[in-house]
Amino acid sequence: MAKWTRLLSRPAGASTRWHVLARDKEFAIADALCGETFPGPVEVTSDTDRLTREGRCPDCEARLAAKQTEAFAGIGQISR
Ligand SMILES: [Zn+2]
Repeated sequence: MAKWTRLLSRPAGASTRWHVLARDKEFAIADALCGETFPGPVEVTSDTDRLTREGRCPDCEARLAAKQTEAFAGIGQISR
C-alpha cells in the first residue's frame, strides 16, 4: 500500500491534501509524484479513513494508478 504524506505544519490557506512520495528517503526533503515538495517535517499515513476524510491529491492518485498499471503490465509480459 502506498504511503500518503503531507506537511505537519502548514501556512494558512495551504493545501492540506495528502501526496504520494516519489522517493522514500528518510531525513531528507521529499518530492511528491505530482511535483509538490515538502520543505519541512511531514506526517505519513496509510489510513484510508483519514485519507477519505481529508482528501488525496488527485494528481498523485492518478500517477500512482499509472505506476500500478505499469507494474501489472510488466508482470504480464514476464509470464507470457
Ligand atoms: Zn500530489
